[in-house]
Amino acid sequence: MEKQMRWRWIATHLAAAAMGAGLVSLLALRSATPEPRGRPGPDPLRAGPAEFAWREHPPASFPIPPYARHLSGVKVVLDPGHVGQIDKGGDWKRGPTGLREAEVNLRVALYLREFLVAAGADVTLTRAEDVDLGLSDPEDLSARAKLANDLRADVLLSIHHNAGPPGANYTSVFYHGPPGHSPASQVVGRHVVAGLSEALRLDQHAECPLVSDWAIYPGEGFRVLREARVPAVLSEASFHSNPAEEQRLRDPLYNRREAYGLFLGLARWAQAGLPRVRLLEPADGRLRPAQRVVVELDDGLTGRGGLGNQTRKIIPESLVVRLDDKPAPFEVDWARRQVRFTPTREAARGAGRLLVDFTTVFGQTVLHPRIELTPERRP
Ligand SMILES: [Zn+2]
Repeated sequence: MEKQMRWRWIATHLAAAAMGAGLVSLLALRSATPEPRGRPGPDPLRAGPAEFAWREHPPASFPIPPYARHLSGVKVVLDPGHVGQIDKGGDWKRGPTGLREAEVNLRVALYLREFLVAAGADVTLTRAEDVDLGLSDPEDLSARAKLANDLRADVLLSIHHNAGPPGANYTSVFYHGPPGHSPASQVVGRHVVAGLSEALRLDQHAECPLVSDWAIYPGEGFRVLREARVPAVLSEASFHSNPAEEQRLRDPLYNRREAYGLFLGLARWAQAGLPRVRLLEPADGRLRPAQRVVVELDDGLTGRGGLGNQTRKIIPESLVVRLDDKPAPFEVDWARRQVRFTPTREAARGAGRLLVDFTTVFGQTVLHPRIELTPERRP
């Protein structure tokens, strides 16, 4: 990632400040419930009966859960960050004893691909070897985003590991831009955070591990996310700069644990339904004067059948229909799950950028909410 040293430094300091705030509140809590003199207070991470302890690693086991079947046919693009062949010397993207981030990213991606393929997902890697991509710039982030865009991937997951002061080691998952830019990216990010947390059992946790890339580059973000036109997140599962974590990251079993955490996140994301919209009218996508527009709403759940299937899954108040960034007055046919509207003559002459989005009871939003219409005649 470009300017990585800079943003990692900033990220680490933000996290250090956040952890400092956490420590203050922890101290306040302890002073409110004083321990008897001479006895150490309980370790908040290991309090209670032994079976409640946050162990570093659960026993190694990687079952494919039944709900992972909802990943079947889902288009996933995995982007193992950087390229191992490129070595700028010194400690560039290396841990304290020389472990290369690019190599770890790739191992995790290859393990993750195994899990996803076992669940029936349609997986593409931006690189499957530790060599360059044949691009003029091997670190070309635009090409990685373009690959996902051209495939119209359901999700692009860029896999990285973080660097900072030796003591830092926590998970961050980044989405692009302001909250409204791509709600679908934030949804997948939430699931990925939870999956990693469960799999890696790190002692440190960022106060809000789901982070906008604007926190690092205000108004700009990370190129691989900024240029993605599909749901996209970038995971920094842990810090390869942390001496103990670097040693764990050398262990293929630990890499597989991380991949499994990412897999569980994606499986639960798919279980929650992957909403889509489809243009029914105009069938050819051409917007003529007085042309009615009809869009089918697929909540990603109703097609499965089962208990409660007849109940509505889309939150009505969440429906948004915008033409060229302006709200379009629309009506909904809930029986057919369609929205309909007829743009004004003026609106029909616009650029034709249609956005239809909604939120389901499962908290999912439309994966590809943007529909391009072709206005019949431009002014
Ligand atoms: Zn990286």
